[in-house]
Amino acid sequence: RAKQAHRGASQYFSAAMGTDARERFKLLKGLRMSFEDNRLFLNYQPQVDLATGRCLGAEALLRWRDEHGKFIPPDQFIPLAEQSSLIVHIGEFVLRTACFELRRILDAGHAGFRMAVNISLAQFRHANFLNSVQSAMRDSGVPATNLELEITESIAMEDPTFILRVLEEVKQLGVTVAIDDFGTGFSSLSQLRRLKVDRLKIDRAFVQEAQASEAGATIAMMVVNLGRSLGLTVIAEGIETEEQRQHLLNLGCHEGQGWLFARPQPAEQLEAWLAQEGERAAAAAAAAAPIS
Ligand code: C2E
Ligand code: MG
Ligand code: MG
Ligand code: MG
Repeated sequence: RAKQAHRGASQYFSAAMGTDARERFKLLKGLRMSFEDNRLFLNYQPQVDLATGRCLGAEALLRWRDEHGKFIPPDQFIPLAEQSSLIVHIGEFVLRTACFELRRILDAGHAGFRMAVNISLAQFRHANFLNSVQSAMRDSGVPATNLELEITESIAMEDPTFILRVLEEVKQLGVTVAIDDFGTGFSSLSQLRRLKVDRLKIDRAFVQEAQASEAGATIAMMVVNLGRSLGLTVIAEGIETEEQRQHLLNLGCHEGQGWLFARPQPAEQLEAWLAQEGERAAAAAAAAAPIS
């Protein structure tokens, strides 16, 4: 009987997997088609100084609108692309597009602007990775110091010895590195210290939990302190409210990214938003000034 029950369960399981696999295959096929038809594009989300609100840079975020106009979120298609060589080609497209946009922003006079690009493990592992970073910078004419690569904490910990080696080469180019989704990937502290990164991005789960409970507040505090004590810049992602901004600022967090400041947006919108920065600063200063 046990055997029968087992067989029943495994039949159910494989049937479910079959549907899943077919669906994944369809999605991947659609993604490949969309990529070839130039239906993938980037949005950019500003990263700001938490104390002053001044824009320091932006993160490039990949977007896919399929042939029916349906928006498919990156959390759904990137893991899929990562299972095929497609991620390498898409990743290169992201890197180059972001670098050319960075060039436009620098040309518009926003010196020091930092463009952050997400890199997945398969890209990182690819033999041509460093070359593709270098040629994206060369072809767009951006300095390495204005480019940042984001790798998730789980990637960084998956293969620390290998990652350490590539990161060293990346750093030699002058490109900065951020650990993304920090706090979710069970970093070993000694590993973290060995990876010479520039920035820790606190996952938005901690930003939300910082206010939800005392335990959440304690964890958020510890994560910020950890980053600071390693001498890193700490940036919090997913800041949606003024209370969250204030809370993280009080904890000693340096930078922020989230809907409170700006949504991910098309390049032209980001450029317009940057152009209005002076007016926003003046308005903020006026609002903060004592009423006479
Ligand atoms: P991520 O790198 O951690 O990016 C931050 C995510 O948080 C983005 O989701 C962004 O839209 C979202 N977000 C920003 N501010 C807020 C906020 O205030 N509230 C909330 N609730 N969410 C906020 P998105 O764009 O859906 O991207 C999801 C993930 O997909 C990214 O997480 C990243 O891991 C991956 N991804 C996106 N673009 C790329 C890419 O070009 N290459 C690779 N390898 N991965 C990418
Ligand atoms: Mg990221
Ligand atoms: Mg993140
Ligand atoms: Mg994430």
